[in-house]
Amino acid sequence: LEAQLLRLQRLESLGTLASGIAHDLNNILAPIMFSVQMLTLKLPYIDARNQQLLKIIENNSKRAADLVKQILTFARGSEGRSICLQIEPLLLEVEQILNSTFPKSIIISKNLSTQNLWRIKADPSQIHQVLMNLCVNARDAMPEGGTLSICANNFFVDENFARMNLDANVGDYVVITVSDTGFGMAPLILDRIFEPFFTTKEPGKGTGLGLSTVIGIVKNYRGFINVESEVSKGTQFQVYLPADEERTNQQAENLELSNGNRE
Ligand code: ADP
Repeated sequence: LEAQLLRLQRLESLGTLASGIAHDLNNILAPIMFSVQMLTLKLPYIDARNQQLLKIIENNSKRAADLVKQILTFARGSEGRSICLQIEPLLLEVEQILNSTFPKSIIISKNLSTQNLWRIKADPSQIHQVLMNLCVNARDAMPEGGTLSICANNFFVDENFARMNLDANVGDYVVITVSDTGFGMAPLILDRIFEPFFTTKEPGKGTGLGLSTVIGIVKNYRGFINVESEVSKGTQFQVYLPADEERTNQQAENLELSNGNRE
């Protein structure tokens, strides 16, 4: 537990550091982007070669700005536009994106354990981002193909479970599991995956911000994540998000009502 606490503290200070850098970078990027746009406007007769150079500056400042935005999302702790969210349509949407963009050597399998999946209170686009980041990592871990499974279950955290997981509270959660049959992670890597800028991917392929964004979003919703991984077997991410209280009550009532009707 102590090691876990230390790691959390380190993550938090890294987050603070990253958001500080992101803010400064934003201030640096804004005038660069503005100036390039002005130059482009003011030099309409500039030759093609120079136009291309300006375009390169513009495109790359945009990329840098996107990166900064991503850092701020996880560090700032914004809750976005939270609504009472049904997970099934979101999973369907993600499944469709994966089926049309991932290589055919990766088999996508989706499994919903129950028809009565609890709802959560969250911003759909943030949960979408969480799932996509996990799925892209799963894809990258299976260069030779494999199976990517997504499933969702209702889960009750009891006292025992909460004692073993620092971030878990007793109560109802929805757990979304993303697992792959990829190359897995050694413990030394697994220890660091949530750190901002930690990546084992080639330069240009990974930013090391995917999972720090994921953990930032999940923590904002008072959720938590369990990861299990075995080298050359695969990896499983379990994302626990608190069920929306009102909805679970209402769903329970509906269930009782319909059971009552049946008698
Ligand atoms: P990035 O994808 O840009 O490297 P992430 O924060 O998303 O950044 O991931 C950090 C690192 O965690 C990856 O570079 C990789 O080493 C490891 N990782 C994440 N997901 C998986 C996975 N499903 N299988 C194997 N390694 C993974």
